Amino acid sequence: MGDKMACKPTAERLLNQARQDTEALKAKGIHPHLAVVLVGENPASQVYVSNKVKTCGELGIASTFEKLPADTTTEALLALIQKLNGDDGVHGILVQLPLPEQIDESAIISAIDPDKDVDGFHPVNVGRLSLGEPGLFPCTPMGVIELLKDSIDVLKGKHAVVVGRSNIVGKPMAQLLLKEHCTVTIMHSRTQNPADVCGQADIIIAAVGVPGLVSGDWVKEGAVVVDVGINELTKEADVTRFCKEGSRKMKAFRKKGRILYGDVFYDEALEKAALVTPVPGGVGKLTIAHLMVNCVTAAKRKADV
Ligand code: NDP
Repeated sequence: MGDKMACKPTAERLLNQARQDTEALKAKGIHPHLAVVLVGENPASQVYVSNKVKTCGELGIASTFEKLPADTTTEALLALIQKLNGDDGVHGILVQLPLPEQIDESAIISAIDPDKDVDGFHPVNVGRLSLGEPGLFPCTPMGVIELLKDSIDVLKGKHAVVVGRSNIVGKPMAQLLLKEHCTVTIMHSRTQNPADVCGQADIIIAAVGVPGLVSGDWVKEGAVVVDVGINELTKEADVTRFCKEGSRKMKAFRKKGRILYGDVFYDEALEKAALVTPVPGGVGKLTIAHLMVNCVTAAKRKADV
C-alpha cells in the first residue's frame, strides 16, 4: 500500500522562489508583469484565469486581464497580441485556451513573442525544448519534473512511461524526462497491450482525459504515479466504479452531484504504487506555481539579470 504524493510542498517552493525573485527584480526597478487574455465566457476558463490573476497579486507580480467577447476574430486577437508584444512593461503573455472555434489557435500561439510565451506553446519554445536550449516550457510538465526531483532520489536511468502525447502535456513531459536521463516510453490511444507497456514503468505520468484509465494492473509494485488528468464525473455508475461507498469522494458526489477524478484508478493504483498524486489537489497546484516561475524567468531574461 503506497502513500498519497503531496504536491503542495513543491508548489509552495516554486511560489516562494517566484516571490523572492519578484522582490529582487523590483529592488532593481523591474516589475514582472503578466498579461492574461480570455476570449468568451467558458466557465472553466474564467475560473483558471481568475486563479492566475489572483496568484500574481499574492506574489507581487503585476497583471493585466484582457477580456474579449466570444465573437472576437483572429485578426482582432492578433492585434492585441502585437500590442502586448510591443509593450516593454509586459513580460509574459498568456492566452487562455481553448479559444472559440472561429479563431485560428495556432496563428495566435505563433504570434506571441517566444520570450513572453509563458505557456511555452510557441513553436520556437517547442524547438528549444527539443534541442535542450534555454526557453520557456509548458507549466504542467515543468511542475511535474520539479515534483519528481523533490520526491525521487535519482531520476537518472528510471523508466518513465508517459500516457498521452498531447503538445501541452505528453510530448513536453517526455522531453523533460529525457533531459533528466530517464528512459522514456510514450503511450497513446493506439498503443498495444497497454497494461504490459505501462506495467514496466518506475514512473507513470498519466495525461489522457479518460477517468481511471490507469488501473491497478497497469502499475508495477513500488512505482511512482503522477496523475495529470482532471475529469468531471456526474454519473453515479462512473463514481461507484472508482469510489467506495462511504468514502470522502462518494460523500462529496452525493452532496454536489459531481466530483473531479483523475486518469488513474486511485484506490487500485495505491495498492501497488509507492506514491500516487491525488485529484483534485495534486498537479493543478504545480501548474499555476510554474506559470509564476515562467513569468519571473521571462522578466529576468529581458532585464538580463
Ligand atoms: P489531449 O486530449 O490533448 O490528449 C490526450 C492524449 O491521451 C492523446 O495523446 C491521446 O492519444 C491519449 N489517449 C486517449 N485515450 C487513450 C487511451 N485509451 N490509452 C492511451 N492514451 C490515450 O489531453 P491533454 O494532454 O490536454 O490533457 C490530458 C488530461 O490532463 C485532461 O484530463 C486535462 O484536463 C488534464 N490537464 C490537467 C492539467 C493540470 O494542470 N492538472 C493541465 C493540462 C491538462 P492520441 O494522440 O492517440 O489520440
